[in-house]
Amino acid sequence: MNIFKILTQNLGGGSRTLAPADAVAYPAGFRGVLHHQTELCTACGTCAYTCSPSAIVPDRSDERFVVWRYFEDRCTFCGLCVDYCPTGALSFEARAPEVVQERAQHYISHQIDMEPCPGCGQLFKPLPPAALERLYDHQPAEDVASMARMCDKCRRQATSRRFKQALSGE
Ligand code: SF4
Ligand code: SF4
Repeated sequence: MNIFKILTQNLGGGSRTLAPADAVAYPAGFRGVLHHQTELCTACGTCAYTCSPSAIVPDRSDERFVVWRYFEDRCTFCGLCVDYCPTGALSFEARAPEVVQERAQHYISHQIDMEPCPGCGQLFKPLPPAALERLYDHQPAEDVASMARMCDKCRRQATSRRFKQALSGE
């Protein structure tokens, strides 16, 4: 097409700036704002392990809780943390992060409290009820839920005791 024709078309077409209401919808699967659901988080650290730019850095300096920290300004929105989170605590919202003036406004920190094991008292983070429900597709029976509230060591011991009882019939 003739360059003068293109210029005339462009100049005659007026402004192409879209008003906010005319904005094009984000496509399905758009990796935008990272959403962290504390009620599903076990503070396992898998997300931090998969994150190469260190956008997720849990603070474990206090044994009573873990502070799950996310630095959005380091995030490349690769989605690995979402893919590998074992409980589905992470997801993307279909919207771009907001433009802010202060860098710190891009930081998120959530406190995940540890709980004492009912068997030995050791502080740890058991699978939250919401994560258990997601795992079993319904609220599990109380004996299963009570095992999930134990630390690894006490759970193994309780399982061994049950096996022994079942085999001996006592
Ligand atoms: S968000 Fe998921 S992967 Fe990250 S610490 Fe929590 S449970 Fe683990
Ligand atoms: S999306 Fe990628 S870069 Fe961003 S926090 Fe998750 S793993 Fe890190």
